Amino acid sequence: MPARILIVEDNAANLKLVEYLLKAAGHRVSSATDGGEGVRMARKERPDLILCDLQIPVLDGYEVLQQLRSDAATRAIPIVAVTAFSAPGDQTKVIDAGFDGYLSKPIDPEKFVAQAEHYLPPGMRTGFPLNRR
Ligand code: MN
Repeated sequence: MPARILIVEDNAANLKLVEYLLKAAGHRVSSATDGGEGVRMARKERPDLILCDLQIPVLDGYEVLQQLRSDAATRAIPIVAVTAFSAPGDQTKVIDAGFDGYLSKPIDPEKFVAQAEHYLPPGMRTGFPLNRR
């Protein structure tokens, strides 16, 4: 069973790539390009997984996390930070803030889907790209 995945990303090229990879794997993808829109869409759609850039307009990734975690309707949705870590300790900060995990940019197109699916229940993993050929 495919998953419904919300991507919150303000970089058009990154968004396009991540959308392409997840759709190719069979998932249903929606996207938001700022944190405010991301929170609204998460509340409306209740996706199975949210992939969230940290540096986004309106609300940053940490604020998105905080808003969704403080709302009973969205509290249980896994939220994974997708970001370019610039300083040592950034990864620890992301986990301490309460993200379920992180994926580092630049993303590896060969591995990205499997890395993202790690945060989905086993029944929603498509196995891509292992069963690709
Ligand atoms: Mn960004």
